Amino acid sequence: MSIMVQKFSVPRGTSDILPPDIPVWQDIEAKARQVIQNYGYKEIRTPIFEETELFVRSMGHSSDIVQKQMLTIASQKQESAEEAMGGLSLRPESTASIVRAYIQNSLDRKEGLSKLFYIGPMFRGERPQKGRLRQFHQIGVEAIGPDSSHPYLDAEVIALSINILKGLGLKDFQVKINTLGSEEDKANFSKWLREKLQPDIKKLCPDCQQRFERNVFRILDCKNKDCKSVVGRLEIGYGHLSRQSQGHFDSVKKALSSLGIEYEEAPCLVRGLDYYTHTVFEITDASLGSQDALGAGGRYNNLVKQLGGPQVDAIGFALGIERIILALPKHEGPAAVALTAFIIAMDESAQSKAFEILNVLRCEDIASDMSYRVASMKSQMRLADKSGAPYVVIIGEDELKRDCVTLKNMEKGSQEAVDITNNNYSSLKTKLRERD
Ligand code: AMP
Repeated sequence: MSIMVQKFSVPRGTSDILPPDIPVWQDIEAKARQVIQNYGYKEIRTPIFEETELFVRSMGHSSDIVQKQMLTIASQKQESAEEAMGGLSLRPESTASIVRAYIQNSLDRKEGLSKLFYIGPMFRGERPQKGRLRQFHQIGVEAIGPDSSHPYLDAEVIALSINILKGLGLKDFQVKINTLGSEEDKANFSKWLREKLQPDIKKLCPDCQQRFERNVFRILDCKNKDCKSVVGRLEIGYGHLSRQSQGHFDSVKKALSSLGIEYEEAPCLVRGLDYYTHTVFEITDASLGSQDALGAGGRYNNLVKQLGGPQVDAIGFALGIERIILALPKHEGPAAVALTAFIIAMDESAQSKAFEILNVLRCEDIASDMSYRVASMKSQMRLADKSGAPYVVIIGEDELKRDCVTLKNMEKGSQEAVDITNNNYSSLKTKLRERD
């Protein structure tokens, strides 16, 4: 009787990143880290799950993420009534977690401006498609603190996101910026929008008809054709802004121009989350098709207070790594870190010596490997070749008798005997390091 063996696949909307693809990821992460650190940001790592309520309170109950995309962990064993009520969710983004960490660790008392960055996975229960996953990765920064209100900081954060992308070799992206104004300006704007949209409410898509009450701004960036034509007829301007908000936005634009940054003003760019105030921005790349945003960000001057912290301003952005990879020019990526030496034991009698040498080299930071299966010289040489190691260290009966190894230089095709009398491997190590 045959037993059916169940085969498992990665969950929908997630993917394995296999070894040949890892160098591209490492390269993006290393280059981004370098650029971010050049701007004075320090890394922070928060858990990949938090209390669901944290995300609901920060992004807003009516945001698409909270309404449709939260991946909530159904725990069988709740430890307390509090946990049973609150529940935990995988993080759909990092801003809320970082603000939580900022408040919990009283970072406001430690520094005037906390400049933080993160790189890691985020989770959203979206309908998967190209460029839209359920587990994806973001590189992001958050600048939070009493000293974070200056418009130069908006310009710094936008410039930083652009410089990360440029540093990775991307050129054909567009930067769109807008301002939502203060909380009060936002309230005026939503009142104005509702008045203007009221007569056309029936022409909006079903989603936007619901958004009319709970998240009217989202109607502005709806991709539906009918909604676009309704919105197109509105004269969206900046009449709802206070003088102070208009002044902040003007200063941000001036600072961007002084940095030579080209941008497009996009009055309909609103971003879907409740916490944004003042500057919002998005970076898109037309080559990505319908999911064209490489990254986005903005100010959130009231979130820290709303989550129980001090009244401090803040601003941040997040870039999507999978989208960056899709947008990168398709040429050979960086090579994986290769071995320096591949060791071949020609027969079983040479295996223990080969294993000893292998471990000596590894402890000396000389990347080395060997096959533990004693096979023909030809098949072991094939393995050595595949490993990419520039040197092969061969040990057989003859070498054992003469207290030496045969060192083959794979690039030159030459070989020589290297003495290892009294287990003294110093000449072997010197020769293996010659290539560095
Ligand atoms: P957001 O947090 O929605 O502003 O997203 C910031 C960036 O993260 C986007 O511009 C995308 O590059 C990336 N991103 C967001 N959601 C997804 C997703 N579901 N799959 C892949 N990348 C995403």
